[in-house]
Amino acid sequence: MHTRFANGAHYGAYAPLGYVKDPDKKGHLLIDEDTRWIVEKIFSLALQGMGAAKITHALTVEKVPTPGWLNYQKNGTFANIYAGALPEKTYAWTIAQVKSILKDETYIGNSVHNKQTNVSFKDKRKVRKPQEEWWKVEGTHEAIITEEDFQTVQGMIAGRRRQKKDGTTQVFAGLVKCADCGWSLAYGMNRQNKSPYGYYHCSKNGQGLRQCSMHYIRYDVLYAYVLSRLQHWFKEVRKDEDRILQQILKSSGSERDLARKKTASELKKAQKRQSEIDTLFSRMYEDRVAGKITERNFTMLSDKYQTEQEMLIQTIDSLQQQLTQDTQETADAEKWIALIKQYASPAELTSELLNALIEKILVHEAVKDEDGNRVQEVEIYYRFIGKID
Ligand SMILES: [Zn+2]
Repeated sequence: MHTRFANGAHYGAYAPLGYVKDPDKKGHLLIDEDTRWIVEKIFSLALQGMGAAKITHALTVEKVPTPGWLNYQKNGTFANIYAGALPEKTYAWTIAQVKSILKDETYIGNSVHNKQTNVSFKDKRKVRKPQEEWWKVEGTHEAIITEEDFQTVQGMIAGRRRQKKDGTTQVFAGLVKCADCGWSLAYGMNRQNKSPYGYYHCSKNGQGLRQCSMHYIRYDVLYAYVLSRLQHWFKEVRKDEDRILQQILKSSGSERDLARKKTASELKKAQKRQSEIDTLFSRMYEDRVAGKITERNFTMLSDKYQTEQEMLIQTIDSLQQQLTQDTQETADAEKWIALIKQYASPAELTSELLNALIEKILVHEAVKDEDGNRVQEVEIYYRFIGKID
């Protein structure tokens, strides 16, 4: 029964979202360049701290097409559902769909089989089998998501589940990472102590793995530090929002305006010159045809203008990029400040607050300074803006 799975071939009716069936090799999957972005987007939203419900909402709002709709477009399947349906139907994502994509090892290049079985020989309805009975083959096709990102997302999902049971200990789930190897820090509990306390350590160190050093940090120490940094920013933003914006963008509002005006005017100049050259070209051709200009001069001039034209294209491109980037950076910084203002000065940390404001927290290995004190660097990377000190 299992033999045909041994090579990890895909025998489902349709390729999973983000993939197409390889026309040259039965059961082999190829990345579908047209839809992989949807998978990447879902994981990227999850990595930003969004849960399945929020991701589902985002996909619907942004009108991202569902796998069902894409299959209908491509193969005409489920025409009874999609033919003549309202446009909303094309992006009617469900939470279950998003959850199953986030847990699907297909996206890291593995094939998982035997997940479902018929209820009975007669009843062909499918039921989910226990995970121990699944059949997995690794590396059967190209991955869309890196193993590291995938594991981070699994950690966040597990963290969210744990948190429902015990709201006190897992507020950092999915956010704390080892500064040296990039893996998530694992949570542990020291119960030998008279008053037990929680701590984090690098997950590459522990459970028999000794591939990275401990990166030990007590939960209460990390908690106090992060809370104090957030309270600091809440206070600063309330005091002088413009100054914080200036600090994040490393320039003041008037400096930014001036720079933007300068870039915009350079862009306008380059675009003007570009259209002048277009006119010059057409005139030169007319002159050449009319015999008003020699072949030699024509070639010389046309080389000259062509070189200038190529340079202008590059200049215009880079100026446009700069303008978009400046606008984006300002918008990001404003978004972060708006988020900070949304949460009034917090007295405690919640997973929601942390995931809204923080992208990741890097914990370095502790070192001893010259006086023998334990010093440990903790870097907070905020969402949208990265690191600010
Ligand atoms: Zn590590």
